[in-house]
Amino acid sequence: MKQVHISTFGCQMNDRDSELIAQVLSAHDYRLTERPEEADLILINTCSIRQKAEEKTYSLLGRLKRLKSRNPGLIIGVGGCVAQQEGDRLLERVPHLDLVFGTRWINELPDLVQTVRQRGRRMAEVALDHPLRYLPSEKAFRPSPIKASVTIMHGCNNYCAYCVVPYVRGPEWSRPPEDIAAEVRRLAAQGVKEVLLLGQNVNSYGAPKGAGGRAFIDLLEQLETIAGLERLRFTTSHPKDLSPDLIACFGRLSKLCEHIHLPFQAGADTVLARMNRGYTRAMYMERIQALRENCPEIAVTSDVMVGFPGESPADFEQTLDLIREIRFDDLFSFRYSDRHPARASGFPDKVPEEEKRRRLAELQALQKGITLARHQAREGTWEQVLVEGTSKKSGGQWSGRTRTNRIVNFPATHLEVGLTVPVFIEKGYAHSLKGRLSPPSGEGRQEDSCCCG
Ligand code: SF4
Repeated sequence: MKQVHISTFGCQMNDRDSELIAQVLSAHDYRLTERPEEADLILINTCSIRQKAEEKTYSLLGRLKRLKSRNPGLIIGVGGCVAQQEGDRLLERVPHLDLVFGTRWINELPDLVQTVRQRGRRMAEVALDHPLRYLPSEKAFRPSPIKASVTIMHGCNNYCAYCVVPYVRGPEWSRPPEDIAAEVRRLAAQGVKEVLLLGQNVNSYGAPKGAGGRAFIDLLEQLETIAGLERLRFTTSHPKDLSPDLIACFGRLSKLCEHIHLPFQAGADTVLARMNRGYTRAMYMERIQALRENCPEIAVTSDVMVGFPGESPADFEQTLDLIREIRFDDLFSFRYSDRHPARASGFPDKVPEEEKRRRLAELQALQKGITLARHQAREGTWEQVLVEGTSKKSGGQWSGRTRTNRIVNFPATHLEVGLTVPVFIEKGYAHSLKGRLSPPSGEGRQEDSCCCG
């Protein structure tokens, strides 16, 4: 049996793809190893969404050169977005690299590795019109016994001016709903309680046939009926495709958790237009208002970028205003970086790095205070917590998540992973909540006022 080591960079889609890579190779006599120095095959599943992520790939490849010179039989391969974007150029740039495989070539990996090994030939396969096949998720390769990610679509048609995804993942392609439902049914039968539906823009699932979000709502309704499944989440949503009917699902579907990740990217209309985002600040605010009217407990997280080409100090101030107004539960924030061949890489008026750093620090300080205040606002309430395991940081503590996706740590002597337990929240911190299974003496059991039941 041969050993494979996989390093993964990037988003949840890449994590799921790495599970698939492990799954595909295990059917061909490979087993996973945590130790690269023991591996016969090292694969890096890469991300190119930001410059920093891409730099990590090159730095890891540099470090692997030593292993390759010690073990010439070692095969090193790169997959994912950097591989898709660079193709043959990556082989030219990194002489000790053997294999480059595109985002649609995971199923063919065993054959590709075999070809490299037997013929001693370095190769790149990155055709974007290669047919996609999805293998259902398997228990042995999932990081959690009770949570699973299910890819429902691949690619994106939106061409936001800063983004390479449409170039490296190709056009949108949706999995048939019956395949997805069958996979989720199987997961529930294996004890999975929570499923995260994945896609670059899940709101346009099934388009153009299921345009207007109907196909995605049909899918959610179908999954809602699956016995044993307790929680359903999805990511990522695009504000322009978030229809009133989909908003109404929060509160109507009991398994759909009260959390949405809705990237806004910038607070100024001029910047949003140059980004080609397809919505205005007012439209974004309306969506948030409708979500909160429909489901007051809903947690809203988002992505934002600072220093997009031409972003003026006044534009940036509008981004800060929007954050103050919405008070997100959490934010993923980034400095803009040129990503070829995304259109914005050719835009004039680049914001100096120093200024981008300053803006990012100011924005992150603002959000840090808001997240802490939101966590502190949960003190004294009860939360339904899905138990995920023992806490990594503090011994004797268990850890789980609320339906709003907040991490809760609490002491307990005897518990089981996969149970949902009510936890009394004693303290809110910057990144998590601390609680206990019984309330402090004198405090009665109060039901949390969640609109969604
Ligand atoms: S919606 Fe925009 S940012 Fe998101 S993946 Fe598509 S092009 Fe990229």
